[in-house]
Amino acid sequence: MTHAHFINKDKQALERALKTITIIIEVNIVNWISRFSKQSVAIALSTFITSTAWAETIVITADRLVDVTNGNVIKNAAVVVDDNIITAAGAVASISLPTDAARIDLGDSTLMPGLMDMHVHLTSDATRHGYKRLEVSLPRAAITGVKHAKATLEAGFTTVRNVGAPGFADVALRDAINAGDVEGPRMFVAGPSLGVTGGHCDSNLLPYEYDNYSEGVADGPWEVRKTVRRNIKYGATVIKFCATGGVLSKGTKVGAQQYTFEEMKALIDEAHLRGLTVATHAHGTSGIKDAIKAGVDSVEHVSLLDDEAIALAKENGTYFSMDIYVTEYILGEGEKAGILEESLNKERIVGKTQRENFKKAVNAGVNMVFGSDAGVYPHGDNPKQFARMVKFGMTPMQAIQAATINPARLLKQEATLGSLDKGKFADIVAVPGNPMEDMSLMENVGFVMKDGSIVKQYAM
Ligand SMILES: [Zn+2]
Repeated sequence: MTHAHFINKDKQALERALKTITIIIEVNIVNWISRFSKQSVAIALSTFITSTAWAETIVITADRLVDVTNGNVIKNAAVVVDDNIITAAGAVASISLPTDAARIDLGDSTLMPGLMDMHVHLTSDATRHGYKRLEVSLPRAAITGVKHAKATLEAGFTTVRNVGAPGFADVALRDAINAGDVEGPRMFVAGPSLGVTGGHCDSNLLPYEYDNYSEGVADGPWEVRKTVRRNIKYGATVIKFCATGGVLSKGTKVGAQQYTFEEMKALIDEAHLRGLTVATHAHGTSGIKDAIKAGVDSVEHVSLLDDEAIALAKENGTYFSMDIYVTEYILGEGEKAGILEESLNKERIVGKTQRENFKKAVNAGVNMVFGSDAGVYPHGDNPKQFARMVKFGMTPMQAIQAATINPARLLKQEATLGSLDKGKFADIVAVPGNPMEDMSLMENVGFVMKDGSIVKQYAM
């Protein structure tokens, strides 16, 4: 079938839908007018129009708007959306608002760009860890991912970076979202994470005779290059690798380096050659430093860093993605979810140090991005990290920038994502009240627009 065929088919379907909607409106207007005043009909109609895709221009107004580019909060603000693009944003007084547009007034709310989480595992289930994960097939994980994608989008995250999924289930999920089959955020996907034999990104739960290993296992410079090439072949748009041991893997030392500098350099060079950015899981100090020296774009977790690692990150413009909320879930709910005793012990040491080092990195001015590790904890709870980011050293503006403009820069997507600026994709969320005064309000995102379509709108 040709592309043109699809367009014609879609057009016919759209025309049919529009006819049906017109009839429904005509019938209902007669009913409504007999029951309500003309004004309430107009309100009902405008709400109806804004919640469907066929209003071409939409004006969204609210008491506040977070201008993440300049680090300001603008009062009495508006965003004008034409199809899926922002055509104007700022103080109402500074914009000539189109008169024929559909209007959405969110009142005492704060508008901000769609949120971006740089560390999720949408196909992982937070209630199944350790040996419980072995019961989950790849197709089952992919289907669970559908539910998680919706929960993540409804929590306000219009873009995620999925840093590790067995079987390229993340690629399938992304493609299903892009095709409109299921609802979810824009996904940048890694496919299976690369790691050394027996390392954090391998599967070490079963004994030798089961010959069980993860698909991302690659040892030596040429094998890692080949695995990067394979991941790209099957749809990866970012590369993730494990530089050091980790908390949730069996038999790995959390601080110990696993890939050599030579392997990391080959892996990162290969990805960069192909135009992909690279994220590395790294808790241990030497692994963090070698990954930065080898040119990695972001370091995940970054628990056991020192002053030299901070200086290196600043010098190289490396982003830190520090998941400082997840420790509360691991220590609170982890045992029930199947997390191994050795992992709980590792978390008891690492979690506290990571939070102290988060403060150091923020104070030193390292580029920071919001990365939650949702999948270890429940999807949709991502925003719980915002209040912790402020508690452990960020200003509210820095925390919001870490989840908007900074990730857009990390992903090299700042031309289209990350701020409410003219020409960018209409990914817009609103939080009731003023999160600058109370960051826990970020946990109540009430309005979500992705790519010009409203996916959530709170009752006003
Ligand atoms: Zn992770």
